[in-house]
This record gives sequence, structure tokens and C-alpha cells, in this order.
Amino acid sequence: MEPTVEATVRLIVAAAMFAGMAGWEVLAPRRRLSTGRAPRWPNNLGIVVVDALLVRLILPAAAVGAALYAAGHGIGLFHWLNLRLSVAALLGFLALDLIIYAQHVVFHHVPWLWRLHRMHHADLDIDVTTGLRFHPFEILISLAIKIAAVMALGIPPVAVFVFEMVLNATSLFNHSNVSLLPGVERRLRFIVVTPDMHRVHHSIVRAETDSNFGFNLPWWDRLFGTHRREPAAGHEGMTIGLPIFRDAGELRLDRLLTQPFRSDSGQPDR
Ligand SMILES: [Zn+2]
Ligand SMILES: [Zn+2]
Repeated sequence: MEPTVEATVRLIVAAAMFAGMAGWEVLAPRRRLSTGRAPRWPNNLGIVVVDALLVRLILPAAAVGAALYAAGHGIGLFHWLNLRLSVAALLGFLALDLIIYAQHVVFHHVPWLWRLHRMHHADLDIDVTTGLRFHPFEILISLAIKIAAVMALGIPPVAVFVFEMVLNATSLFNHSNVSLLPGVERRLRFIVVTPDMHRVHHSIVRAETDSNFGFNLPWWDRLFGTHRREPAAGHEGMTIGLPIFRDAGELRLDRLLTQPFRSDSGQPDR
């Protein structure tokens, strides 16, 4: 847990420092920039993409690290109940998936969390890259929640490791712009969140945005009444995105990072 907290604090401090110095540069520049920000910032911030990739690949190891710590110290409900590894692993996987589902619902309904999450929804198309398009702050909060769950329940490291891998894979899968045979899609939808199922979640129509929250398992949406089979306008006719941030300029990397802290044209954002 210690290195993760440290890394989180380090990142928040670095981001705040970056924002502070960048704002300072704008308000009181020392010298006139020769090429300006426009051609440079997207590229310089492109490095943040690489960093974000690292966050996605390395930080999930922190959740496994927390699980290893919990296992080593006998921390968490599953250890106190003396569950067999196979049972604890299965329950742990299911619990993590339910927590991710609940977290997603909360991110839609708590205004400041929605501001972080809506950047994911502001993509004007949905394809495999949308599955990677999360604000780094959302990834960090998500990681913190996962670590808390892992420690509280004492989820076995193997379950956490498998869960992280599967979650990454299913996010890429269910955001992808692929067509499945209708019969296959219908059956698959009982086992895993399919692209058609998750595409409804990226509809501009609010009621559709607030449905199909699942990432891995499709069961929670059915259980809690948030499952929606099809978008009203159909998959060909539906509009992807939000009522705000519809300008193509908003697709730029730097705009993505600042979207949580901006409003757009007085439009409601859902
Ligand atoms: Zn969402
Ligand atoms: Zn999505």
C-alpha cells in the first residue's frame, strides 16, 4: 500500500505543480514564445499518453501488491472466514466486478466525478481507442477504490491479477467497432458485455448514457435494472457522445485532459 499512496501523492503534486506553473506562464510570461503553444503542447502532452499507458500497465500491479500484502498479513474478510483459495478467488473476482459496476454508476451521478468520467463519453466515435480514453484522475480514483476493496475483503492476488487483465481486455473488446453475428451477440451478451451493449452507454441520449454500466459481466445491469437492449435510434442512426464538447478540436489530447475543468457553451452535459 505504501508505494501506491506515495505514487498517487507524487502524481497529484506533479499535476498540480504542472497546472500551477502552466497557469503562471500564461498570466505572466517571461518571454514571448517563438512557436507558441499550439504546435508544441499536443506533442509535449503526447508524452502524457505514454505516461498514461504506463499508469495502465504498471499501476494495476499496485492492486496486486495490495493483495499480496493482505495475503501475507492475513488481512481482510476472506482470510478471517478461512475461505478456500478457489472460493475466495471466485468471490473476489465477482466482488471486484460488482464494485467496478457500482463505481461506474456513482461516477455518472456525483457531479464532480462525472466531470472526470464524461471525457470518456465525449468521444465523437466509439472504437477500440475509446476503451483507453479515461482521464488519469479517474484511473487513480478507480485504483484507490480497487485497493480498498482488495484490502477489506482480502481478495487473493491471483484473482486481482486475472481481474485486471480481463478488465483491460474486455474494455478494448466492448468499445471496439466490430460487428458480431446477431445470434452470437445475443448469446455472448449473457456472459460478457458486448460492443453493441456498451455502445448504448455512449449514446448522446441521457437515458441511454445512464444504462449498461457493466464492463466485464453483463449481469449487474440486468440485476439492478440498468440494462438497455438497443439504442432508440438504432446502432447505425444513434449519435455517439455528449451534447457538449462536440467541436472536433475537443478531440485533441490537451483538450481531453482539461475537459473536467471546463464547461461548454452553456449546454447541459447530458
Ligand atoms: Zn460511463
Ligand atoms: Zn465506454
